[in-house]
Amino acid sequence: MVGTRQIYMYIYIQMKAKNVLPVKKVSVEILWPLLPGSLSTARIACGKPNCACRQEPEKRHGLDYRWTGFLAGKRTTKAISPEEAKVCEQMIQNYRQALETLARLVQQSIPETPWEKRSSGGDPNR
Ligand SMILES: [Zn+2]
Repeated sequence: MVGTRQIYMYIYIQMKAKNVLPVKKVSVEILWPLLPGSLSTARIACGKPNCACRQEPEKRHGLDYRWTGFLAGKRTTKAISPEEAKVCEQMIQNYRQALETLARLVQQSIPETPWEKRSSGGDPNR
């Protein structure tokens, strides 16, 4: 039955390669670079045993900046400087705007869906 099997595979590939939609391209401008995730800050206690920061949280030192997000599917946290936090903030804003742009494109694509394309009603599941 090797011959039959080969024929099925051929048909399958043909169906995959066939464009069922006319090819359309849209160009969008997004601000780059992009970074998902979010920033957070934390005050830290130092290593000195008698320092006030050890007892009272409000007397802790400095401000630790952190970026947290998913990179390649892995939740990641990076310690960053205040200056780096500004860069990350801008990149995160770019990312969120890009998501909004994508969501808008999805919204604009709804009229192209098969159910919206059906000429007149008659589909109770619409
Ligand atoms: Zn301290």
